[in-house]
Formats: sequence, C-alpha cells, structure tokens
Amino acid sequence: MGMLRDHCGVIAVAAKEEVASSLFFGLKSLQHRGQESAGITTLAADGQARTIKGMGLVDNVFPPEKVAELRGQYGIGHVRYSTAGRSVVENAQPHSVQSQFGWVALAHNGDIVNAPALLEGLKAKGWAFITDSDTEVATRLLAKKLTDNGGNAMRAIRDLMGELSGSYSFTMVVGSDLYAVRDPFGIRPLCIGKLPNDGGYMAASESVALDVLGAEYIRDVAPGEIVRITRDGYEAQQTPAAPHPAHCFFEYVYFARSDSVIDGQLAHEARRKIGMALAKEAPVEADIVVPVPDSGRAHASGYAEASGLPLREGLMKNRYVHRTFIMPGQDNRERNVRLKLNPVKPMIQGKRVVVVDDSIVRSTTMRRIVELLRQAGAAQVHVRIASPPITDPCYLGVDFHHRDQLVAANHKVEEIRKLIGSDSLAYVSIGGLVQAIGMPKSSMCLGCVTGEYPIAIEGERVRGQHVLEDFPVST
Ligand code: SF4
Repeated sequence: MGMLRDHCGVIAVAAKEEVASSLFFGLKSLQHRGQESAGITTLAADGQARTIKGMGLVDNVFPPEKVAELRGQYGIGHVRYSTAGRSVVENAQPHSVQSQFGWVALAHNGDIVNAPALLEGLKAKGWAFITDSDTEVATRLLAKKLTDNGGNAMRAIRDLMGELSGSYSFTMVVGSDLYAVRDPFGIRPLCIGKLPNDGGYMAASESVALDVLGAEYIRDVAPGEIVRITRDGYEAQQTPAAPHPAHCFFEYVYFARSDSVIDGQLAHEARRKIGMALAKEAPVEADIVVPVPDSGRAHASGYAEASGLPLREGLMKNRYVHRTFIMPGQDNRERNVRLKLNPVKPMIQGKRVVVVDDSIVRSTTMRRIVELLRQAGAAQVHVRIASPPITDPCYLGVDFHHRDQLVAANHKVEEIRKLIGSDSLAYVSIGGLVQAIGMPKSSMCLGCVTGEYPIAIEGERVRGQHVLEDFPVST
C-alpha cells in the first residue's frame, strides 16, 4: 500500500470477430495497473483506426454505447497512471497518428529515460508535439521510421528500439498489423495468449487479462522481442537483448494481481514466500497476524504459515474505495485511508498484532494504520514489510522519482519505526526477497532498493558486476 503508484496496463487483441468488447473486458482486468485514464484503438477492415480515450476508470470511459462505436477485429488498449507526463486527457493513450503507410498507434507501459533528450532533438529539427509524454515521442518516431523503411513495420520497430533507452512494454497498431514489443531488459511484463476456439491471438501486461477472455497463456514476450500478432498466429523477431534481464521485482511484491503469472512466477506464490522469509528473518512474540488489505494479504498468509501464528482479517476494507493514491493532495490521502480501512475491534482488542504490508513509501499510511490498530485496543503493534526499504527513486515506470518522497532515503529503520509509532519494524532482506521470488538476482531490477539501475541514468550508479552473482534459487 503506501504511496506506490501503478504504472500502466496494455493489451492487444487480433480476433476473428469484433474486438472492442474483448479489449474492454481485458482492460477491466488490468484496472489495478492504472485508474487515471483508459483508451482503446481499433483498426477497421478498411484500414481506418479509431481511438476513444478519456480520464477515469474503464467503466467510466467506456459505457456500452462507446464500445459499440469501435469497429474492427484488431485493436489495442491502455489503462494509465501517469508516470511521465502530466495527468491530462491529452496524455491518455493509445497515442495515434496517421502516416504514409497507415495508422500508427501505441499503448505504452514504462518510462523512456531518454525521451526528454529525444524530444528536444526532434523539436530542434522542426517536429511539433501535442503532449509532453514519452509515448508521443515514440509514436511519432515510429511513424517516421515506418516511412524511412518503406512501410516495413518490423524494421521500423527495430530502428525505434535502437533509439529508445528505458523501460517499455508496447502494444501497437502499425499499418494493418498489431505488435507487442518488450524492451531489451524486460523490465515491465508482457505476455501472449491464444483466444478460445481458435478465435485469435492477444498480448497483455498480465496473464489475468488472458484469463478473463478465456485465452490460453502461451508465453512471455522475451526481453528485446518484437511479436507480430494476427488472428491466425504470431511471428516473433528477436532484437539484441541485454546480457541480463531486469524484471521489476515490485511486480511480484505489489503491482501485478496475485493471480497473474509473470515471467514464469505466480505473483501470489512469490508473495507468500516473501512473507515466510520475513517470518524467519524477523520473528516476534505475538498473538495474531493481520494483513493490510489487499496489498499485504498474500505476504501475511506466508508470515502466518511460517510463524504458526493465526491469520486474522483485523482490518476491513471498504471495497468501493479505490487505492489511496487516486486522490491527489495529502488531505485527501489521509481521509482516504480512514474511509478505506476499518479495524475490527473485537479481533484486535488486547492482542499483540503483527501487521504486514508490501512496502512503506512515505510512511504516512502506515503511521495511520498503526494508530487505527492502537485505537482499536491492540496491546502491541509490530510492522513487517515485504520489500526492502525503498531508498532510491524509480526511473523505469513507477512514480517515485525523488528521494525526498521516500522515507527510507533519509531515515534508518529505527527512525522510521518511531515515525510510524510501532513497537517494532522489520523489512525483508534483499537476499530473502530474491530467494522468495525464485529468480536469479541478476535477472531482476532492484534499483529502488539498491540504488543500482540496469540502465544508465544521469547521476545514478549502473548495476555492477557484483550484483550479477546469483542467489540460490528456491524450488
Ligand atoms: S527501480 Fe524499483 S520499481 Fe523501478 S523498475 Fe526497478 S525494481 Fe521496479
């Protein structure tokens, strides 16, 4: 929970029937990845693309009559939380432009680190832009590359990838085709699937979007891979990948839905194991384990399992309130926490409580939760956190860009404990986290907890040799 903001979710569907409703349902299953805006572009048989997008949840942007306006058997969709660019409707995606060789539309999850430099360079050459978003830069560049390559989309995408540095999982309409593209580090997730009854193929940020459409998971898009998706199959081309992938570890800890499988790992299973690691690393004499719903639930179940303490849903969530971060401004955030969580007094009263959550970003939310538990009569409150302290910014698709937003950037654990007012506080170790996720450390981005990034970022350290040794992988 805390103040981590999601990035975005993307989807592409090529089907033998109209795709607008499939895109709508797929986007709804990815809603947890972004609640600020939603958009769909469909490509009709005559080559005309139509985009509808707006601010708000998928349901708000797409009442049934809007979905009905979108014609075509090919399409892409997007849900957004702004990570780069302002929160305005112009920045909603997909971005689409018309080129000599047909429409180019992009839906993007990630952060293109060199977008500001590309933008300035292109402006100096006379290009003009409507938004300040990295996705518009990529869309216009791709349209230009398409022309430069005589309409050859694969080559155009390769050329585009050669110019981009950063994290990107794209779904694209290029001319008459759909593509799914993942950056050479595979930072953000992207997988492909087959629709039921030989109905077509699709790609999406998470496997839950495949599940909701009854599609069969085929595989993840490999780092650096370009996949052309048609209603009859898919064709992949590999561009040079990084020597080691850098899958964002936060997908497993928080962002992805628990029932998603990402790069071969079920998020729920990773979370449960992180909770178990936390119980072994930071045991405490207590009576009950209470999850912060929903973000701490799977970790708390692992903590309870490994510690032998009973798991109790001692904090009730108002399920009609969206995540705390959707309202800007500190006052709204605090009010949102109160509206969102209610301690179940009879369960808490007189108990020594271990409360488990995924992360602490600023510390305001956790301080409030500790306060709520104490007000409900908890004898002790012990906080356990399923990620290492977030000490450094994320430049690769999550919106904590500054160290001053991060309590752990300039406070030690004991200082943070005092700030949140708990009896004890412990975070999972980096080693414990890596082992629980079950992937070599060298295949993960851990930038925000180590200060070493997979991609060169001005003023920051690049992931070094010493992080490339593998931790033993648990089975
Ligand atoms: S810096 Fe952190 S949040 Fe950002 S991509 Fe890397 S692991 Fe994920």
